[in-house]
Amino acid sequence: MQRSIDFPEGTRDATPVDPRRRAFLIKAGGLAAAGAVMSSAPLPLGATRMTAAAAQVPGGGPAAPFRLGVASGDPLPDSVVIWTRLVADPLVPGGGMPDRPIAVDWEVAHDEAFRRPVRSGSLETDPRSAHAVHVEVVGLDPARVYWYRFRAGGEASPAGRTRTVPAPGARVDRLRFAFASCQKYEAGLYTAYEHMVEEDLDLVVFLGDYIYERAFKASSIRGLGLPAGRSDAMTLEDYRLRYALYKSDPLLQAAHAAFPWIVAFDDHEVENDWGADLPRSTLSREAFLARRVAAFQAYWEHMPLRRAARPQGSEMQLFRRLAFGDLATFHVLDTRQYRSPNRPCGDKEGPLCPAALDPTRTILGERQERWLMDGLERSQALCNVLAQQVQIARLDFGAEAPLFKMDKWDAYPSARARLLRFLAARRPANPVVITGDLHNNWAALLKADFDDPDSATLATEFIGTSITTGGDGSEVNQEGRNALAKNTHLLFHNDHRGYVRCEVSDKRWVTDFRTVPYVKQPGAPISTRARFLLEDGDPVAHAV
Ligand code: FE
Ligand code: CA
Repeated sequence: MQRSIDFPEGTRDATPVDPRRRAFLIKAGGLAAAGAVMSSAPLPLGATRMTAAAAQVPGGGPAAPFRLGVASGDPLPDSVVIWTRLVADPLVPGGGMPDRPIAVDWEVAHDEAFRRPVRSGSLETDPRSAHAVHVEVVGLDPARVYWYRFRAGGEASPAGRTRTVPAPGARVDRLRFAFASCQKYEAGLYTAYEHMVEEDLDLVVFLGDYIYERAFKASSIRGLGLPAGRSDAMTLEDYRLRYALYKSDPLLQAAHAAFPWIVAFDDHEVENDWGADLPRSTLSREAFLARRVAAFQAYWEHMPLRRAARPQGSEMQLFRRLAFGDLATFHVLDTRQYRSPNRPCGDKEGPLCPAALDPTRTILGERQERWLMDGLERSQALCNVLAQQVQIARLDFGAEAPLFKMDKWDAYPSARARLLRFLAARRPANPVVITGDLHNNWAALLKADFDDPDSATLATEFIGTSITTGGDGSEVNQEGRNALAKNTHLLFHNDHRGYVRCEVSDKRWVTDFRTVPYVKQPGAPISTRARFLLEDGDPVAHAV
């Protein structure tokens, strides 16, 4: 086993601390924080939090080759994926790594000091997968916290904390999770994550737009020269650079290191508003599919996903089901890969045209739709979470004439009606939808007939705002005002950034919309902008 690596000149050492930064770190998190971001030694107790406090400092973060931090994901009762990618310099092609396999050791322990080891192993990275490391750790106990870390080139990674889920059928008192989406790097700071790591969560669900593929100029907010943003991401190397840039953010790293994540992509991981094998851009179908191959490969390389999700060319198995004991089942959907063409009524938002009403239109695809309904039918869970990308609830944004966004379920009314008819007929236990994409907070009732406010409510949909996309935001925006005035099934709208926290027990579900008042400056406080309660057996959420 190869134990030492020669990294390119100058990449072995951590960035020197400049005196201003040290002063900041001392102020923000105490001296230990400066040690935590500088040292290659295992992080001290509470390091996740302190790394977060230090995160406003450009260039802060773990030493090479662990500059992208660590992550874990897709927790099962006896297994979890642990992830890292060896990168010496996030801003250069190839991550500044040699073009050959590199030996990596991993270890999982009961404690943060790694004195009580549980599992360990070694592997060799593959430069063709950008030195990404995915380990499916098995043989773990259910509902238990574990710590993990990696070693390569004589360096240790930061320690990550993860947690398995309860055993199948186990009675579980409580599930706490957060969901988030849409973290455009140049739009703002990841302050929401600084607060998320302070929460007591079992897991995090990320609902897409982890990166944005478009070119951007040097970010006045981020204050860095950003070579990764000079042109639209098209090639595999472009996408890798984009992920490396995003994942070099210490607040994002801290959120990954604090909890296991269940991730799904939306459109911007490939390109804006894509659907099936069709781009929204002017690319040919062939050029788009080549782009999708590159985008999926880079997505896989940077996410804590299982081997089952590894892309085969332009295809990727993203939809999947994860249970949290008998309390909740997450049905993670893919509303991109299998949908009928977007924008059936042309490129503009507007009223629905006859083509949109075609009963054969699908947003999940036939196979996934059947898989979802079968899974809901068979589910023994007390609640069934549909974790998905684009809003299901009808949202008419028009000030007067109807105005629908043609990339959402609104452009697939027959597919939506099939799902709602299924919920009405088969009554799976406590269905709750969690959604990203819109960059605003919404709570919406899914009605049997959206034209009839008195028709049955079949589920509540919580739509979470963005982490950063859209910038600072405001209390209410014009689209929100219009939609609230026209759609009585909408309970709530807010246009600030943040994430959504959910606490689930066998009696009730509580959703807290957690918001920050700004993201263009560091240090925004967090608050609960609104709280909704669902009680067992009642699909109607109530503001409390
Ligand atoms: Fe987005
Ligand atoms: Ca989106």
